Amino acid sequence: LAIIFKQVPKGVYVPGQDLVVEQSTIDLHAPLKEGEFILKNLVLSVDPYMRIFLENGVLKPGNVMGGNSMSVVLRSNNPDFQKDDLVYGKIARGRFEKYSLVSAEYAKASYKVRNQPKQTGLPLSNYCGALGMAGMTAYGGLLKVGKPVAGETIFISAASGAVGQLVGQMAKNLGLHVVGSAGSDAKINYLKEIGFDGAFNYKTDDIDAKLTELCPNGIDIYFDNVGGVMLEKAIDHASHYARFPICGAISQYDDLKGGYPIKNFHKVMSKAITIQGFHFTQYTEELEEEFLENVAKWLNDGSIKYAESISEGIETMPQALLDVMEGKNFGKQIVKVADL
Ligand code: NDP
Repeated sequence: LAIIFKQVPKGVYVPGQDLVVEQSTIDLHAPLKEGEFILKNLVLSVDPYMRIFLENGVLKPGNVMGGNSMSVVLRSNNPDFQKDDLVYGKIARGRFEKYSLVSAEYAKASYKVRNQPKQTGLPLSNYCGALGMAGMTAYGGLLKVGKPVAGETIFISAASGAVGQLVGQMAKNLGLHVVGSAGSDAKINYLKEIGFDGAFNYKTDDIDAKLTELCPNGIDIYFDNVGGVMLEKAIDHASHYARFPICGAISQYDDLKGGYPIKNFHKVMSKAITIQGFHFTQYTEELEEEFLENVAKWLNDGSIKYAESISEGIETMPQALLDVMEGKNFGKQIVKVADL
């Protein structure tokens, strides 16, 4: 089985229409050419950026969907990818199919050996979330763009999600006052359990009243995962010299050519706010090693927790992406394809 890109969504993404499950076969026992190897794909990461990639021309109709993944090498004729190695599939590149026949050339740009789970004992799914792209995004975005200082206030939107829950716990451990928003009461309860000082449901609470109550000294860092209305509200409640790491804008992804017009942008100047978009890849070279070491340690010693939504079976992937877009995921959305 494989997940195939069929067509550009017309507005709201439709699983089974834009992304479909198709039968595909590879011969697991066929002789391997030089540099080739066969992967058994184990877990896949489902992420909001995929909605953009369905529209930006990276995927052509008929292509196998790609994304972060963890896999194991079944057979190999490539000295860099040995039998039983655990292998990380990079953003948009790990192939969403049950088994993959990988050429040396595709492997270079798409996969790296990541045998750390054998040492840390952490679940493979963590390596598609807290220890994958989402984690690197949280780590780089908070430290490099947010520039957190103990005693400051950070506000995080989509705070219970793959990136948000890590940003909040890391900020708390650095001594910040941490406030988050999310879309259900169960998510709000979770945020309080993992140490957020304040959290509110942006769908049912009065956002202005909550930001006034929970951020009495104003917002010093707004870690923006959603864009749109919440970005506008955060500008209203920002302190002078606030930093706004612009991580994502999921509220806008179904309407990439339109979108919500921010009405108070002039305040960015009067409050001297630094609004800075960033991409996790900016920080991987410098920080990935320490990030992997630190986050694995924090997960193992319990100083951070990490909620995941795991859907079973590769055929659940198209629906899992809609779940992420609709907020039905609780924490990092993972698809489990097979056991090791
Ligand atoms: P999440 O696990 O947070 O899942 C997405 C969440 O967004 C949903 O669960 C939902 O939570 C929330 N959401 C959906 N629609 C809306 C809406 N209209 N308004 C407000 N919230 C909404 O995803 P990630 O943690 O993986 O990603 C978070 C953000 O970070 C995304 O914007 C993503 O594109 C971005 N990102 C950026 C990267 C970078 O390098 N800059 C890398 C990785 C991710 P709720 O129930 O709370 O509404």
